[in-house]
Amino acid sequence: MISIYLSVGLVVLGVGALAGWAIKKKGRPQAPTQMPKLENPFLGKLERTKSILGLKLERSATPSNWEVVEEALLEGDVGAATTERLIARAKQNRNGSDEPVKSLLGQEMVKLIDTRRVALSELMEKNHPLVISVVGINGAGKTTTIGKLAHHFKSSGKKVLLGAGDTFRAGAIAQLKMWAERVGVDFVTGREGADPGAVAFDAVSAGKARAMDVVLLDTAGRLHTKSNLMEELKKIHKVVKKVIPEAPHETWLVLDGTLGQNSINQAKEFSEALGVTGLIVTKLDGTSKGGAIFPISEELSLPVYFVGVGESVEDLIPFQPEKFVEAILG
Ligand code: GDP
Repeated sequence: MISIYLSVGLVVLGVGALAGWAIKKKGRPQAPTQMPKLENPFLGKLERTKSILGLKLERSATPSNWEVVEEALLEGDVGAATTERLIARAKQNRNGSDEPVKSLLGQEMVKLIDTRRVALSELMEKNHPLVISVVGINGAGKTTTIGKLAHHFKSSGKKVLLGAGDTFRAGAIAQLKMWAERVGVDFVTGREGADPGAVAFDAVSAGKARAMDVVLLDTAGRLHTKSNLMEELKKIHKVVKKVIPEAPHETWLVLDGTLGQNSINQAKEFSEALGVTGLIVTKLDGTSKGGAIFPISEELSLPVYFVGVGESVEDLIPFQPEKFVEAILG
């Protein structure tokens, strides 16, 4: 009996040793190859804003020169009221400690916009399909952003349909169609000049019938007729409700980041008329006005969902306040 146990033991040891030798020879079994993940996706994308905020604040390390701090924040388009609030809080928190001004300000900046965002996964769990109406004036980057959003959702395994409801701007339908083909997602539209409400109705109906996860509706940013844009957009939302009473579940306003704080009034108009639920700020790669994201988000009491940092499909980054602040402060 003992000899049987002994021989089984020897066989097991032998197999183990052989396996060990094989692994040594071939190298350890590799985990599936993954792209190296960048720690902070904003790094290198917000250099112009960083060149104002980061550099100037660097100079006011310790002892703090609050005038330089104020100058830097104003130049970075953080806005007078928000700047004043940030400095007051930073001064209070400093309270004799020698924590650098940049870090104190950073913590307060994060607090300004941190809390209100609903997780996209939660939104998608609740709504099938999740209908997102994307609004904003012409040139803000709406169509490009929808293309990037389609890519973002598709990359996380979601079924996406784009509804090309900007039937007024020449070329808008073709532009969105090109994005749909490039990204490989469903696409619904009407003829140029067609009723945008009808297109939105068809797109949401198709999204429901085809069991999509997300329907992204492109909308007009300016009208050829004299009629009021906000009234037109309200009409579109009303029509969508005929298909899904709670839709659009989200209305995201796309703002041109190069306008900085100048877009606050425009944003208020959209927000009051349409019940905007979130912001996307584009073109932050090409401006030093990235700091405007703080007063805009604060004044409108709206979360920022994404920021645009370039023209390629990958250049849309889910907004993470801490990482964003880290990138602009350096
Ligand atoms: P729409 O009229 O609002 O639909 O605007 P478009 O999507 O046509 O965009 C207007 C211009 O802004 C186009 O040339 C886009 O390539 C460009 N654009 C959009 N988003 C960004 C961005 O994040 N960074 C840069 N640099 N350009 C952008």
